[in-house]
Amino acid sequence: MFKKILIANRGEIALRVIRACKEMGIQTVAVHSTADTDAMHVRMANESICIGPPASARSYLSIPAIISACEITGAEAVHPGYGFLSENDNFVDILDDHGIKFIGPTADHIRIMGDKITAKDTMSKLNVPCVPGSVGQVVDTSDAKKVSEAIGYPVIIKATAGGGGRGMKVANNQHELSNAFSSARSEAKAAFGNDEVYIEKYLTTPRHIEIQVFGDGKGNAVHLGERDCSLQRRHQKILEESPGPTITNQVREKIGKICSDAVASIHYAGAGTIEFLYENNEFYFIEMNTRLQVEHPVTEAVYGVDLVREQIRVAAGLEMSLKQNELKPSGHAIEARINAETLPNFIPSPGTITAFHSPGGLGVRMDSHLYNGYTIPPFYDSLIGKLIVHGRDRTEAIERLRRSLDEIIIDGIETTTELFNLLLNEPDIKNGDYNIHWLEEWLVKREE
Ligand code: ADP
Repeated sequence: MFKKILIANRGEIALRVIRACKEMGIQTVAVHSTADTDAMHVRMANESICIGPPASARSYLSIPAIISACEITGAEAVHPGYGFLSENDNFVDILDDHGIKFIGPTADHIRIMGDKITAKDTMSKLNVPCVPGSVGQVVDTSDAKKVSEAIGYPVIIKATAGGGGRGMKVANNQHELSNAFSSARSEAKAAFGNDEVYIEKYLTTPRHIEIQVFGDGKGNAVHLGERDCSLQRRHQKILEESPGPTITNQVREKIGKICSDAVASIHYAGAGTIEFLYENNEFYFIEMNTRLQVEHPVTEAVYGVDLVREQIRVAAGLEMSLKQNELKPSGHAIEARINAETLPNFIPSPGTITAFHSPGGLGVRMDSHLYNGYTIPPFYDSLIGKLIVHGRDRTEAIERLRRSLDEIIIDGIETTTELFNLLLNEPDIKNGDYNIHWLEEWLVKREE
């Protein structure tokens, strides 16, 4: 097992990884920008090292700075968390060259899944159901027309290098196509420096269902059911739950096995998430995330496992301790993402926390890096905490979420906590009756 791990991240996820390391008796190294000198992850780690100025590009995304930090501290492995360098194949190659272990999949697997056309092609060959669409990239308008007519309107034009919901345009008919096509390409060029696009059938009312998978890198893999992450604003997830309110045991077992077989056959190592749109009882692959996700705790709650511990074990070459026949979901879990933002427009609200109280009690987990007197810097993501509740069933989980939201105290800044109180009063949310457009439509209705 590793003696020392460097965590190339900040905020709640850095704490999450430090906690797993502590339980495993592994020393931890925190890295931080000058804006994060007083951050909780710096306090909680055994050692810390400053890697640059506030701008992420010069600190948390600086590969030379992180490699130097590993060399100086003698860290043998790096956990990337999510975001930042977690899906950067070049970073993994450089770590490999330096003999430092990346806690995650190989650079090749990151490359395959990072290019959406290659990912889709790979998945479809592995019998994973995909959205009908173009075979590979679409180069010009006449090609785009042919493909769109064949699959039927509406269609969505997507950037092959896409991420964060950028570089996507919908065309409802032939008239809208050429504009949508050229603007998707120019947006993709501007955002990713690559104007390659492809076309898919646009699904009108899908849910976002994702399957958690885990591989040992030697041809064995398991699945840990699904998460329904349909409540999104601008493609950002707001609330996630497991099991999905519409997913039966039979459906879970079927899609879960397809996913675990797929990752087993490519010898995938570590945690991964296969994301689908789900409409009329059909799954349509959209992408695979080759890392730990923000919403992983709902899966941990329902399956009673520690995914970070497992990531570290597999990276260290130990046997995967997860066995499919022992993985039985129990109860229901919901995560509410709490952001430092002002409602109703979700404008970032950094500042100093004058009072902080974390909720607790049976079935409540609060993953947060906040503390009394902490000043949230304005340079990074506005996620300040994840409140995860677990109950024997969905109703109990909802009641527990309501109760624990009531206990939270975060003074000094604006947060999105109140949003969840409002959502939990909505009959559609209580009934689990929502799709990926529900939240945006609800927000518009409230403004009117
Ligand atoms: P990104 O990597 O930018 O997040 P995704 O491929 O995961 O891109 O798509 C992001 C979101 O865009 C999805 O969660 C969904 O809301 C929407 N979307 C993507 N493809 C389709 C599609 N074929 N039909 C309908 N909505 C889609």
